[in-house]
Amino acid sequence: MNAEIINIGNELLLGDTLNTNAQYLSQKLTELAIQVNYHTTVSDDEEKLLQLLNISQQRSDIIILTGGLGPTPDDLTKETLTKFLNKKLILHHPTLNKIKKYFQKIKFQMPSVNKKQAYFPENSIILENQNGTAPGCIIEEQNRIFVVLPGPPRELIPMFENVINFLKKKIKGPRLYVRQLKCLGLGESAIAEKIKKFLNLTNPYIATYAKQDCILIKIMYRSESEKKALPAINSFKKKIKKILGNIVFTDDDKNIEDVVAELLISKNETIAIAESCTGGLVTSKLVNYPGISKVLVEAVVVYSNISKIRRLGVKEKTIIKHGAVSKQTAKEMALGIKNTASADIGISITGIAGPAGGSKTKPVGLVYFGLAIQNKVFTYKYIFNGNRQTIRQRAALTILNILRLHLLEAN
Ligand code: AMP
Ligand code: MG
Repeated sequence: MNAEIINIGNELLLGDTLNTNAQYLSQKLTELAIQVNYHTTVSDDEEKLLQLLNISQQRSDIIILTGGLGPTPDDLTKETLTKFLNKKLILHHPTLNKIKKYFQKIKFQMPSVNKKQAYFPENSIILENQNGTAPGCIIEEQNRIFVVLPGPPRELIPMFENVINFLKKKIKGPRLYVRQLKCLGLGESAIAEKIKKFLNLTNPYIATYAKQDCILIKIMYRSESEKKALPAINSFKKKIKKILGNIVFTDDDKNIEDVVAELLISKNETIAIAESCTGGLVTSKLVNYPGISKVLVEAVVVYSNISKIRRLGVKEKTIIKHGAVSKQTAKEMALGIKNTASADIGISITGIAGPAGGSKTKPVGLVYFGLAIQNKVFTYKYIFNGNRQTIRQRAALTILNILRLHLLEAN
């Protein structure tokens, strides 16, 4: 079975509202192994929606429509779908009563326009809305399933839970099972080169995607059953991991900070962080992990030279001779934070995030990292591309990955 998603609303096409419903619904359908083939966004326009429905019903088993369930005349999803299916709109009295009660509760007279929200195409299954006045509905018609959902995500998301239960009972035929590996430490093209023999298969279909926080490898397998699909996917995961080794940091949904935090906690290694150009980003990521307090002793943003000297004991001489962005400063920062915070591990980040401040010898994007562990200090030099925020983001991910690799080696 395959699906498509139609998002309705002028605000989406004007760029006012980000179409998060399409992403959410695609994630949920993928979890159900239902392949999503199309996303289309269309304006609040009967003619255009009718044209689109005409195309959709020829190519998809499940058609999910979002938005256009409001009380105002520009909201016309149910009306248009009813017309398309040659059905009648019927007043659903229990829904009307619920809408009336909703207004009593908030002590408002129900505007007459809201009555529109209690009308549904005949033979609909009504989906209650716990968070607003616009119920959704499901219509089964000639082997097609149409699902109509409200636009606001806080209404759509809880409602979709019921749709999931409905779809689980209906799913038949081959499905698309999707699993992933997440990588850091090599670029997308280098990864693709290493695993190229897997990238021209059709089942499983394996592809790489450069994301903001990792390189994703998706393994997509079409099969009649999960029982057949999962062992096949796992064997490909294994083969890819064998080639890529430590570059793969997880084979589920974890972020790099989750993996690092789990390693620190399981090894009972405490950490302290000294950040300059990342301005707290590394710490902020680690603090996303609940339970990080077991290992995170202290983190400081040492942005100025004087702070690096006073707080961490970096030698003034070092900064004058080599600069704040240098291997030597990174080293003294990592040692300084480790010792003053009495942590097992100290890490440091100092770099030029730009756009100003670069030179021929020290370009924008140059970042030095320090890592003090036991009685050794390691330093790393990277030059990142991108704007200020990209450089900071990449620097934060890089030091977390360096730390992960050290923790794995210390096994
Ligand atoms: P509607 O059901 O068309 O009246 O939508 C009401 C509100 O829901 C809109 O003004 C948006 O703020 C929000 N909304 C509608 N469609 C989407 C979408 N695809 N993704 C995220 N929010 C949406
Ligand atoms: Mg709308």
